[in-house]
Amino acid sequence: MNRNMLIAGGGIAGMAAGFAAARAGWQATVFERALKFSEVGAGVQLGPNVTRILQAWGLGDALKQVAAFPSGLHARSMTTGEVLATLPVKEAITRYGAPYVTLHRSDLHGLLLQAAVREGVRVHGDAVVQKVSQSADEATFDVMQQAQLQLHTAAIAVAADGLWSPLRQQLIGDGLPIFTGHIAYRALVAQVDLPAHLRSQDVSVWMGSQAHVVSYPVRGGDYLNVVCLAEGRLLDDDANSLQAMQTWNAKKSEAQTLAELHHALRGGCASLTDLMAACSDWRLWPLCGRPAMQGAHEHAQGRVAWVGDAAHPMLPYLAQGAGMAIEDAYELAAQLLGATLANVPERLQQFAHVRWQRNARVQARAVRNGQIFHATGPMRAGRDIGLRLMGARLMDVPWLYGYR
Ligand SMILES: Cc1cc2nc3c(=O)[nH]c(=O)nc-3n(C[C@H](O)[C@H](O)[C@H](O)COP(=O)(O)OP(=O)(O)OC[C@H]3O[C@@H](n4cnc5c(N)ncnc54)[C@H](O)[C@@H]3O)c2cc1C
Repeated sequence: MNRNMLIAGGGIAGMAAGFAAARAGWQATVFERALKFSEVGAGVQLGPNVTRILQAWGLGDALKQVAAFPSGLHARSMTTGEVLATLPVKEAITRYGAPYVTLHRSDLHGLLLQAAVREGVRVHGDAVVQKVSQSADEATFDVMQQAQLQLHTAAIAVAADGLWSPLRQQLIGDGLPIFTGHIAYRALVAQVDLPAHLRSQDVSVWMGSQAHVVSYPVRGGDYLNVVCLAEGRLLDDDANSLQAMQTWNAKKSEAQTLAELHHALRGGCASLTDLMAACSDWRLWPLCGRPAMQGAHEHAQGRVAWVGDAAHPMLPYLAQGAGMAIEDAYELAAQLLGATLANVPERLQQFAHVRWQRNARVQARAVRNGQIFHATGPMRAGRDIGLRLMGARLMDVPWLYGYR
């Protein structure tokens, strides 16, 4: 058998894993169930822990073409608009050796897809991985491709099939993700369409009670990505179609969406209200999750490894879901660099050991950030005082950004 790898799922995790494996000398094949790789998604922030990897992969210049490079990340009060503290993310280059960037998910995905194809990764759309099986020597995918069932065999199988990972359900069997009680409403607005006082090249987090809003530039700074994250209930119909709503493009009626946003942001300051009013075409995303993996034995089993949201879905409150997918890909390739066909299971266990605790820590920190961002009553007052006094020291996360 050759040094082959099969990958289920062609999102950020699948593309990054394929690209990194190809660089490490593996022939990777990605199977993506979508017919084509569409321009879907919202904005993503990438910390220096992630951009350092993209630079090491030779993608720094491509990143510059599409990313924005904010100077500061401002924690603000939703009610007064006051900037409580600023993390000078521009200093990430001197402090952590790589920039803090913001960009559109589809730009990041496009960049990885192009790089993967350049590196010789085979990419198939309209290809649904129905099943994974394995023996001591090989792993097999049953793939439904253009209405035909095909079996593909390789030394390694990677499950990068996202939050609802069918392969996780098959091999780990720990049930479906559950609704976290948080909903993301997001919009994209051209900066030229905003009044001057609402345009921004920085990241702002407006913290309220049981809700917060994040805004930052994407598409090289030409657009502002605006996301309101609120605690709320789903209508019965939505609760029944959670999985179907996670397409990046789900919508409710304009009136319903505006009513929910209005409720989430009640008491918000004028500049935030103006910003929200300037946005339209809101898409929503009910945030679902699952507990962290219990150990390395879940992150990889034999010749199968999990990467990205399939392994560790997380609330977006530390802005690291795609980041951890890229770190997974980097570590996977590092372990596979000198691997032989025989010692693949050992190397995948090593990968799992390196990754599972870090991913679990990031998942837990994202939950904690949500509690801080959404604090009410005295906790909220304490948070604001703490931010005023401690400033950037409270917002910096050296164990996260300084990785490798
Ligand atoms: C509102 C919001 C804001 C976010 N902000 C940030 C941020 O600022 N920074 C950050 O780093 N992350 C952020 N994230 C998280 C980030 O978007 C995700 O972690 C990341 O996109 C996960 O990538 P993935 O490839 O693991 O999963 P996905 O993008 O879900 O890709 C999985 C792919 O697998 C395919 N697939 C599924 N089943 C099969 C099958 N059986 N056969 C073949 N293909 C299959 C799917 O079609 C899909 O293309 C945010 C998420 C949300 C919702």
